[in-house]
Amino acid sequence: MLKMKAACERCSAPLGLTDEAYICSYECTFCLVCADELHRECPNCQGNLLLRPSRNSSPTQVAKTGFKAKLEKILP
Ligand SMILES: [Zn+2]
Ligand SMILES: [Zn+2]
Repeated sequence: MLKMKAACERCSAPLGLTDEAYICSYECTFCLVCADELHRECPNCQGNLLLRPSRNSSPTQVAKTGFKAKLEKILP
């Protein structure tokens, strides 16, 4: 699971779970402004910065839904 960092690593702008943010494959996290200024390249690892998928539900919610889906598969 992705670590959802709560702030930009460059300018410390707060990044909510549903805010747009850019991450590299090592999960370095940057805000939109910084990602643009960095030309979508991570300054730490030179990787591509990609738009982070937003997370609208908590991990416990997802676990519950997943468990329910499994149960529904087992039960007729
Ligand atoms: Zn920033
Ligand atoms: Zn990186």
